[in-house]
Amino acid sequence: MTTDQKDIAAACADCKVAKDKRACLVPEGGVGGKGCPTEHQQEALSAANAKYDDPDTLEFAKQASLQEAAGYANRHQRPYVVQPSKTRMQEVCEFAHRMGYRKLGLAFCMGLRKEAGMVSDILKAQGFEVVSAMCKAGAMPKERLGLGEEDKIFQGGFEAACNPVYQAELLNRAGCDFNLLLGLCVGHDSLFFMNATAPTTVLAVKDRVTGHNPMAAIYLSHSYYTRMKTPGMCVTDQEPEQD
Ligand code: SF4
Repeated sequence: MTTDQKDIAAACADCKVAKDKRACLVPEGGVGGKGCPTEHQQEALSAANAKYDDPDTLEFAKQASLQEAAGYANRHQRPYVVQPSKTRMQEVCEFAHRMGYRKLGLAFCMGLRKEAGMVSDILKAQGFEVVSAMCKAGAMPKERLGLGEEDKIFQGGFEAACNPVYQAELLNRAGCDFNLLLGLCVGHDSLFFMNATAPTTVLAVKDRVTGHNPMAAIYLSHSYYTRMKTPGMCVTDQEPEQD
C-alpha cells in the first residue's frame, strides 16, 4: 500500500524486512519497514524522479548505472551469483571515460601525498589530464579561522589550515570535468563538495587509525569498539590531564 505521509522520516537503515521481501526490491507484493520511503513518500519520490527529466542528469545516472553493472563478471550465468570484478580505482577510470571526461581534479590530503602521486600516475597512464591540489595549498594560517595556539596540532609556530575551499577553487578554475577526493578530513570534504562546480567522487576517505578504512571500526563495533555504541563514549577528544 502506498501513501503520502510526510511526517514519517525514512529509516531504511532500521528496516527488518528480509531482503527478498522488501518493497524497494520486490515492487509486487513486497512490504516496507517502519518509515518505508517506498510506501509512504509518494510526493517526494515523484519530485525526485522528475529530476531525471533533465538530460544531463539522466545521462549521468544512466552511465553510473551501466558502470555499476559492469563491475560484476559473468552476468549471463543462471542462476547468477555475484562476481565483483573491478576495483574502485578501475571504476573511476572507466566511469570518467564513459562520461567523456578528459581533465580530472585530484584534491588530496597532505597525509596521503605519496598515494596522491601514485593515483596521479595511474590517471595519466589511462589518458587523463590531472590537476591536483593538496589540502595545505595556499598556506593559510589557522589564525584565519579564528583558531588559537592550543587549537593547532604542532603548537608554538605557524601551522597551515586545510583549505578545501581553495582546492575546489583551483579545480574549478582549471575547468576540471570531474573531481576525485583522496583522504580529505571529515568536514573538509564537505567544504569541498559545497564549493566544487564539477561532479565529485570519493576515491578514499581518511581514517588516521585504520589505514583509511573506516569500516574496520564499524565491523568491530560489536567487540573492541563497543564504546562507540555506549552513550557518551564515542567522543574522546578531551585533552588528558597534565601533571
Ligand atoms: S525502502 Fe522500505 S523496504 Fe526498502 S529498505 Fe527502506 S524501509 Fe525497507
